[in-house]
Amino acid sequence: MELHNKPAHALHTMLKNKEISAVELAEEVFKHIDQTESKIGAYVTLTHDEAVNAAKVVDSKIVNGEEIGVLTGIPCAIKDNICTKGIKTTCASKILENFVPPYDATVMTKLNAVNPVILGKANMDEFAMGGSTENSGFHVTHNPHDLDRVPGGSSGGSAAAVASGEAIYALGSDTGGSIRQPASFCGVVGLKPTYGRVSRYGLVAYASSLDQIGPITKDVTDCAHVLNVIAGHDVMDSTSSTAEVPDFTKSLVADVKGLKIGLPKEYFIEGMDSEVESAIRNAAKTFEKLGATLKEISLPHTDVAVSTYYLIAPAEAATNLERYDGVSYGERVDGVDVVDMMKNTRSKLFGEEVKRRIMIGNYALSAGYYDAYYLKALKVRTLIQRDFTEAFGDVDVILAPTAPTAAYKIGEMISDPLKMYLQDICTVPLNLAGLPGISVPCGMTSNKLPIGFQLIGKALDEATIIKAAYTYEQANK
Ligand code: GLN
Repeated sequence: MELHNKPAHALHTMLKNKEISAVELAEEVFKHIDQTESKIGAYVTLTHDEAVNAAKVVDSKIVNGEEIGVLTGIPCAIKDNICTKGIKTTCASKILENFVPPYDATVMTKLNAVNPVILGKANMDEFAMGGSTENSGFHVTHNPHDLDRVPGGSSGGSAAAVASGEAIYALGSDTGGSIRQPASFCGVVGLKPTYGRVSRYGLVAYASSLDQIGPITKDVTDCAHVLNVIAGHDVMDSTSSTAEVPDFTKSLVADVKGLKIGLPKEYFIEGMDSEVESAIRNAAKTFEKLGATLKEISLPHTDVAVSTYYLIAPAEAATNLERYDGVSYGERVDGVDVVDMMKNTRSKLFGEEVKRRIMIGNYALSAGYYDAYYLKALKVRTLIQRDFTEAFGDVDVILAPTAPTAAYKIGEMISDPLKMYLQDICTVPLNLAGLPGISVPCGMTSNKLPIGFQLIGKALDEATIIKAAYTYEQANK
């Protein structure tokens, strides 16, 4: 197997045994990027020279006999809404086209402590708004399994990079499914941690009560390693959890005996692709064969999750995006006076989807409509949270599809935003409830497109979903 297709833990062994050097590894991945990037378009920015310099530092550590971590010297991609000191962070928006953060996001500080090799910044839907990466202000990313199809989104660049070998692993962000859904469309593993498990400091805010950063990896083992590095309390993020962080690699044990798995009937919806449904049901049978018990459960407010999400997320987005006014930072389009300048800046530099959300959000928050829309959505959010609390009285984890279909064609949904929003039905409830979820590949459609299932865990119980995901992966090797 070529180096760029290997998981981080396998490359780590090769680095440690001096079978390869970190510079050789970085150069091999860049060579592959040179060959494939024109077809995939996974990146907004590539940082070749910085990557090679970082790899040289790793090589000297290895030569000096220093201990290296599993992610040390491993080439990775970072979603372009995560602030990287000295490296452009655009959010795939024209309004931040030349923004170079003067500081690192906390996840970058943590990652840099283990000496990674950062290949570049991955493409995304502008400000993480979307599910196909077609809303990028710069270019569309293509699904490595079928170049005519979307990679999913909004972390489509991150998932496509990992799936195509243009990165060994990546960081993404998930506000309503943006790690799990592209992982599922691209046939890789993606985990959204519990809200608060990973610091949001330095993640450009979309919807602050929903956003979480998480890993996109080639397998479950790498997922545990990445989560180990990025998780933990951060004084810079007041919503970050103070709960102790377990060593997630301890969950890499193949054992689901006695695990109670719930299958929510509302997630197997009408309009769901039949091949996706049978792949998820087969995965459930595999778990049963491995010793888990299955139970049908109900999450009765699932049908209102999408409408709830599409009020809360735009409301928070409208507020968060007020700061792009052409004054403090970001690009500016001049006008005759300051108001005209702000108007020009925002109307010319934000894309259609971002403007649509700002309008929905401001409408939902405006006097006279606040109670009817935003406040109501907050109440329904509580009901959705309660559904999960009740379900977790009976089961340890919940198994569901990650998305109702496999990857769709580029252009197929972009003119119909409502249709695209409905695609988020399986992922948004977890964000509304703050729960962790992992998407794991579980087969292919007859068109050779990846399908993923999602395991949903109790709050702060990433360990159990990682263990179950690992067990499934080992059984299907
Ligand atoms: N597709 C969802 C949206 O457009 C989710 C995005 C995300 O998780 N960042 O809001």
